Amino acid sequence: MTNPTERCLFCRIANGDINARKVYEDDKVLAFEDINPQSPTHVLVIPRRHIATLDDVTEADTLIVGELVRRAAAIARDQHLNSEGYRLVVNCGEAAGQTVFHIHIHLLGGRTFGWPPG
Ligand code: 5GP
Ligand code: ZN
Repeated sequence: MTNPTERCLFCRIANGDINARKVYEDDKVLAFEDINPQSPTHVLVIPRRHIATLDDVTEADTLIVGELVRRAAAIARDQHLNSEGYRLVVNCGEAAGQTVFHIHIHLLGGRTFGWPPG
């Protein structure tokens, strides 16, 4: 099997092959602006390590999934979204709208959101 790093868009952003407007990075997590924002703030928070979908998360990934959520909340706080409110979204699978098969949390903020989602 081909190494996912070579063909996966978000692996390529994580390793610097493709540019993105980064808002945070460390050795395990990267956050960058979505290329097609759905709200005034739309940041994607990803693990550097390739995990295809939420359905592929195992017990061994507990720490990194926690880090992603914690980082999304920290970015929301940094961008002063926390007082008004913001939304985190993970699309899992095509029917839910997942188009990039490298797990990511959407951090959406800066406007009011409806419920139920589309
Ligand atoms: P999904 O639909 O899989 O939940 O979310 C994928 C997201 O990745 C979409 O919101 C889409 O706009 C974003 N996206 C797709 N290609 C690129 C890209 O090359 N750069 C950035 N920054 N975002 C991208
Ligand atoms: Zn990947």
